[in-house]
Parts: sequence; C-alpha cells; structure tokens
Amino acid sequence: MNNFFKYNGERLRAFFFPPVCVGCREVLDVGEAERGAVFCPECAAKWKSRERITYLSGLGKGGVPPLLGVGGCFDMVTLVKYRPSRNSAPEKIIYHLKRKSGRRVVNFLAGRLALGIEKVEKLPPSQDILVTYVPRQHRTVCKTGVNQAERLAKGLSCATGYEFCRLISRRGIFAPAQKKLDTARRRQNARDIFLLCDGAELLCSGKTVVITDDLLTTGATLGVCAALLYSAGATRVICATVAVTA
Ligand SMILES: [Zn+2]
Repeated sequence: MNNFFKYNGERLRAFFFPPVCVGCREVLDVGEAERGAVFCPECAAKWKSRERITYLSGLGKGGVPPLLGVGGCFDMVTLVKYRPSRNSAPEKIIYHLKRKSGRRVVNFLAGRLALGIEKVEKLPPSQDILVTYVPRQHRTVCKTGVNQAERLAKGLSCATGYEFCRLISRRGIFAPAQKKLDTARRRQNARDIFLLCDGAELLCSGKTVVITDDLLTTGATLGVCAALLYSAGATRVICATVAVTA
C-alpha cells in the first residue's frame, strides 16, 4: 500500500511539477528524469562538449593553482571551465546549483566528480578517505536555503562510499564575501573566517580528505581550508570542484 502511494505520489508530482532541463527549462521526459537526466538532449550535448573531467596534480604548468599549493594541496579534480559572462549549459547548471540545487543536479555533478576522483593517483583504500565541504556564509545559506558544497559532498559520499564529515566551520557573520575581494586580500580573509570543527582532529588524523566546492576562482579559500585539514592531521587533501573560472 505504501508503495502504491509512493508510486502514484511521484507520478502526480511529475504531472504538476514536471522535471525540466536545467539548461533551457524545456520539460523533460519523465522516464529520462527518473534515470537522473538533468538536461534535454540538446543541452546534454552542449554540456558534453564543454565538460573535461580533469585531474591536476603538483605545481607549475598543468598543476594546481599556486594558492592551493600554498595550502599544501597538490591534487585537484574539476569538470568544466566556467565563463561567468556566457549563458550556456555549464554556466546555467552552476547558477542553478548555487540557487536551488535540485537533487537531480547535485547527484549528476557528484557522479561526474566521482569519475574525476577515480583519476587521482595513488588513492588510498576508500575507508581511509573522508569527504567534506567548504562552508558558505550563513547569510547566503539563509537567503538561498542551500549549501551547494555540502550537498555536493554528501552526493559524492553516496557515489563513492567515502565517509561524509563536517570538518570546517565559519566564523564571522559579517566577514566580507570572498568574491568581493582581490587575490591578495582573499587569502587573509579566508584565514580569518575558517576554523576546524570540534573533534575534526579525531576524524581527520591519518586520513585523505576530499573537499568539495562549486567553483574555484583563485584557490585562496580551498588553500586555506586544505591547510586547516593538514593541521588537523590529514595526510592528503584533494580538492573537487565543479568548475574553475576561466
Ligand atoms: Zn535543455
């Protein structure tokens, strides 16, 4: 009986709130959406043409951004280059993720990031890996009701089997947002606002930590978070971001 309601409830929901393409808002085929599709065939092709599941390691050309390296993080996985001015499928999915990330979108991106993690060299066994995220400003979370990095981390945890942990928190409700600062001030600002959660040392010690975020701009935020995770005893920190600003 429960299944009856569940099944018909979902069908009713799909009838009144049909799943739409994240790129162009066109109504999707219900079966496709149930299988996890986020794009219509056209937008899926656009996404595919831009997606490069990339693993960067080390410093220098083809390596991680210098500010990540400063934090001791030399492994990074990313899916696309983000061009804020453009209005194509990848830009829209990131925009969507920031505002009201539907479960379909999060699961789709987490699945893609999981493929990127598979490319990471010398990955330890999965029981030695944790997944965490970069916390957002309280203000933003209140406004949008979503912490996209947290949801990505949880999605990645489901896709990979790595344990999800909250390891970093944020102080200073009035601290300036990173995106409003220049490169030099970002790092200091990040140092001022992020701190380890209680008990992070117990969880992190001896582990490899994958930290998620939606967008990497200079790497200042992720670099500072990586340094914090190392100070808590993590042996390696891997960044996983949906996009890097081009
Ligand atoms: Zn579309």
